[in-house]
Amino acid sequence: MRVRLLFAREKNCHNSIVTLLGALEREGLADQCAVWLTSHARLIGDYAEAAGEADRVLVGLSMTTGDVPHMAALLRDLRARLRPGDLILAGGPHPSADDETVLAAGVDVVFRGEADRSFPQFVHTVLTGGNWQNCPGLAFRNAGKTVRTPPPEPILMDQVRSRFQGPRLIGSLEITRGCPYGCGFCQTPRLWGRAPRHRSCESILEELPQYAHSGYVRMLSPNAFGWQAERPGEPNVRAIVEMLEAARARQPALKVVFGLFPSEVRPDYVRRELVRAIRPLVANRYLAVGAQSGSDRMLKQVRRGHTAADVFRAVEAIQAEGMGVLVDVLFGLPGETPADAAQTRRLMERFARSGVRFRVHVFTPLPGTPLADAPPGAVDGETRAFLDEMARRGLVEGAW
Ligand code: SF4
Repeated sequence: MRVRLLFAREKNCHNSIVTLLGALEREGLADQCAVWLTSHARLIGDYAEAAGEADRVLVGLSMTTGDVPHMAALLRDLRARLRPGDLILAGGPHPSADDETVLAAGVDVVFRGEADRSFPQFVHTVLTGGNWQNCPGLAFRNAGKTVRTPPPEPILMDQVRSRFQGPRLIGSLEITRGCPYGCGFCQTPRLWGRAPRHRSCESILEELPQYAHSGYVRMLSPNAFGWQAERPGEPNVRAIVEMLEAARARQPALKVVFGLFPSEVRPDYVRRELVRAIRPLVANRYLAVGAQSGSDRMLKQVRRGHTAADVFRAVEAIQAEGMGVLVDVLFGLPGETPADAAQTRRLMERFARSGVRFRVHVFTPLPGTPLADAPPGAVDGETRAFLDEMARRGLVEGAW
């Protein structure tokens, strides 16, 4: 049976798609089904072409909550053309947290949580003519009911692929999954679990040659300074520094991006000696620090697990060691008062004088999080004018 996998790859899901295709390759399945990458814009046309040459087409979509509005029409259109036996598959943070809605929108199979094990198992079952409904980690509709199969065992990070040789694709090198914190607005611990899993130093070093052609590697972690931490709040300075030194020794020409987008560092993990030690070993001249709010009341309310004073200490420590700082802030959290917003603006104003830059977000309720049912956030007039002025000075990016 000729099976074609048609994956819609957009910029915001590149890493997830590469990881899933890499998982197929790891299991020796990539050569058994033709993989075709497309985009949302080309999906309908490419599906028609794929259907013309394959016995079965599996259409793969990765969805964030932000994708949902424009995906509804696309799913309707695709659903109307789908041949019997072809399937629409979806995974990612939104389907994992809200499978019912995604299934109702026209998806056949949702992959819940990480799919590094469940996706290859599903593809293998389809290729061998088995019953995919017995595979782990799925949600699907059957006889008018939503069926959820048990989750697969979490994958060991050393087995996670961040590359796919098929058409040569490379993603950020995932070094940690999971987060022991439970910030009310964040899907990460719900998607990857609260027990952090770290890639070993040996595995990181083994992966580095794959990045030589691009000249740089971005290390991906919810909290880069939490890599190999043995206790929450205490960075494993020695492990981080030894890993970065070994990376430099192994691939001297490779630029390592650590603690910057798509990663950041929690302020309570920042230590001067750690910043001093990594500065000559990393290519980034900035570190991204997740501050979120200048109000201790809000930080406590969303269970950030650190204070505004931790943010001040972190920024000062990073700057004292000669690195720049990019601070993430989040306005419009549920219950935020004008006084809370003013405290965040004051924090930004004070940092801006020393060259700090900011990434500004406005609270969006995400499914699966404790704040999922809260109304979307908004910024007040004073904050909007403040942010507009900061933007004119080139100090902030984002949308508000
Ligand atoms: S915002 Fe960061 S620290 Fe908080 S739960 Fe998410 S990943 Fe963890």
